[in-house]
Amino acid sequence: MIICKICGHEFSDFKFCPNCGTEVASKRVEIISDEVVLKKSKAKNTGFPGEGKGIAALVMGILSLINSLSGFGIVFAVIGIVLGSLGVKESVAFGFENDMGKIGKILSIIGLIISVICLAIITVCLIINFNYFSAMF
Ligand SMILES: [Zn+2]
Repeated sequence: MIICKICGHEFSDFKFCPNCGTEVASKRVEIISDEVVLKKSKAKNTGFPGEGKGIAALVMGILSLINSLSGFGIVFAVIGIVLGSLGVKESVAFGFENDMGKIGKILSIIGLIISVICLAIITVCLIINFNYFSAMF
């Protein structure tokens, strides 16, 4: 993409600015790559690629921690890890940092570990109770 420095008009594939006639070869126009155009447009929208997934991963990470003691946190944790990984990958591909995605992924991993430990304890308790009651009859 080409931006005319005289009038600000954006165009491509012309030797002269279609708006004011400034010659491209005169260097009074700025030639920018598609990547820069994408970054500029994303910056205008105050968002970046993978941001949504990063926020979702953060929410899932918190939910996994809240629900970890019941063992249900495992569901949120798995979603959080997947979304966090995808979000960070997407952001890095476009040259952005995705801290929310990283933190969401870490929280989800912690939630997953606690959930698995609690599930193991719950399972062991159920087996002990089952053996206890079955021994009574
Ligand atoms: Zn122009």
